[in-house]
Amino acid sequence: MSDDTLQVYIDGQLYPKPEAKISVYDHGFLYGDGVFEGIRAYNGRVWRLTEHLERLYRSAKAILLEIPLSLGEMREAVFHTLRVNRLRDAYIRLVVSRGVGDLGLDPRKCQKPSVVIITDRIQLYPPEFYEKGMEIITVTTRRNAPDVLNPAIKSMNYLNNILAKIEVIRAGVQEGLMLNQQGLVAECTGDNIFIATRNVLYTPASHMGILEGITRATVFEMAAEFNVPVHEGALSLLQVYGADECFLTGTGAEIVPVVRIDGRDIGDGQPGPLTRRLMARFREKVQTEGEPVEGLM
Ligand code: PMP
Repeated sequence: MSDDTLQVYIDGQLYPKPEAKISVYDHGFLYGDGVFEGIRAYNGRVWRLTEHLERLYRSAKAILLEIPLSLGEMREAVFHTLRVNRLRDAYIRLVVSRGVGDLGLDPRKCQKPSVVIITDRIQLYPPEFYEKGMEIITVTTRRNAPDVLNPAIKSMNYLNNILAKIEVIRAGVQEGLMLNQQGLVAECTGDNIFIATRNVLYTPASHMGILEGITRATVFEMAAEFNVPVHEGALSLLQVYGADECFLTGTGAEIVPVVRIDGRDIGDGQPGPLTRRLMARFREKVQTEGEPVEGLM
């Protein structure tokens, strides 16, 4: 199936990718007023679908956006879109915007939120990043302050992350570490960060101003399985530079080792043993533990 024949769900209807369009009066387009999720399907199973849907509905609630589908209906719509496209391995993008309104900010002018489900093939980082590890930098763009626009809300306002990503691209690396307003480590442009020191994992706490990643939560589970303690708290850049191991987590990236930050080798400059163990266990889990899509198995 060529990409242009992929069907995109918009408000209950399916459209071929080239015809999948939203009005320029949609406040998602005009103001970034809306919420979204990025989800993966592996081997005909949707990974952590309930967690992603719950986060979507929480984000929507935080911005007073009422999703016109129940969580169960949204789940069925995701399954339906995957089935129609016969995608067993996919990246799923759910978008719920405020909907079509007028040119003012007033969300009351938007009659009905727009609901979009895109299911597409996944673009992965090259395998060498997983084998040899990645180099990242700290960017100068600070993460949004939680009392201004909380990064825990996965909103369509990603300009903060995009400005950071532009720095990342200019530096010729793959990801960028963002600090919060206090200069403490928050997260990367599209991933959470962990370090390991003497077999203990450390990651910034939610109140540092981060998106509470679903992959991050999976690392907590796997660490418990391995009897490795995890500390959620404040993390300084100096602690990161001095760590034995470092890795990033995200739906797209999965678990990816980081071996160099701002020119400093992390540990011995190779992906660490705990990172490798978590990567291997994660790959095993996603193949078997996701929610099976009926008709795709
Ligand atoms: N932080 C940000 C800013 C993100 O956009 C994402 C998702 N791409 C993550 C962290 C990781 O979250 P998850 O593991 O749920 O994909």
